[in-house]
Amino acid sequence: MQKGLKIRLYPNNSQINILNVIFGHTRFVYNYFLDYSKNNKDYKYTSWSKKLTELKNNEETKFLKEADKFALQNSLRNLKTAYDNYFSKRAKEPVFKKKHNTQAYRTNYTNNNITLYEKGIKLPKLGIVKCKYGKDIRDNKIISVTIKLLKSGIYEASIIYECEEQTLINTGKSVGIDLGVRKLITTSDNEKYISELDIDRLNNKIRKEQKKLSKCKLHSNNWNKQRKRLAKIYQYKDNYMLDKIHKATKAIVVKYDIIYMEDLDIIDLVSKQKLKKQKRKMLTSSLGKIRTLLEYKCEHYGKTLKKIDRYYASSQTCSNCGKTYKVKSNEIYKCPHCKLIIDRDYNAAKNIINYGLTHN
Ligand SMILES: [Zn+2]
Repeated sequence: MQKGLKIRLYPNNSQINILNVIFGHTRFVYNYFLDYSKNNKDYKYTSWSKKLTELKNNEETKFLKEADKFALQNSLRNLKTAYDNYFSKRAKEPVFKKKHNTQAYRTNYTNNNITLYEKGIKLPKLGIVKCKYGKDIRDNKIISVTIKLLKSGIYEASIIYECEEQTLINTGKSVGIDLGVRKLITTSDNEKYISELDIDRLNNKIRKEQKKLSKCKLHSNNWNKQRKRLAKIYQYKDNYMLDKIHKATKAIVVKYDIIYMEDLDIIDLVSKQKLKKQKRKMLTSSLGKIRTLLEYKCEHYGKTLKKIDRYYASSQTCSNCGKTYKVKSNEIYKCPHCKLIIDRDYNAAKNIINYGLTHN
């Protein structure tokens, strides 16, 4: 089922400039093809769409590339609908759009190009626009967003989103979660989510592209191209991680009713490791997001998140015999008392659930 939500936008001056450009270009496209179809008696969307691509490559109209590509396509779709309604006698013949008409365009969701944050929304070409909304739909899949400048001067976005069932079936199962550095999440059922290797791979890619950039002549064409490329990879990196975190936290919330997690100091946890600055930054923000999204999803889906005392030494206690043993961060846990040999993070997650179950 699809639902709609209107949110208020607070674009800054440079975003207002970009919005004006996109409003103008979508209007241009609408009017251009209205004119074209009248003159050529060609009312086919596919041929308009093909012609639009040509326009973007023409010297005089290549400015169209500045606009969000979905906004332009949707402008054609709107024209198509207007004609369909006209030909089936449901509406009058479409007319040219003027600047004083309502300014609006619609963009579509693809590859994380639109993301709703707590106080902002990321939109194509605009970056993050400050916004306010009542209902939190961050866990829903966004389908499209229509951005409008109302006569009152207020900017508004209408979000169409996929509405899922918001309560999950109770499974009667509990789980302990250990947040770590090598695997970001390990559960007491020994399931692991998100590896540091994902972060390494992304960082290596960035380093490679940065190196290329440093070899380009400053402000040259290649330098500009490479800079844009790098910016894209940076954005991809954030989206990629966020997507992984969303999937992992959702999977956990689906599977368990009660989730126990150590109430740990993430900055402290990460700073104990010898890591490159980029990786440390990414780990800190990813672990923070895991925690935030687990909290948020538990509430959203009617599950329970319980935090346990951060001073409880989950990693140094044997989950089998309860005695302690100081294990180093990259080692397998080998209990000298009961001879248990177990993955260190799995051991910690088991301790977390044991502690949670006995201290409640
Ligand atoms: Zn033991």
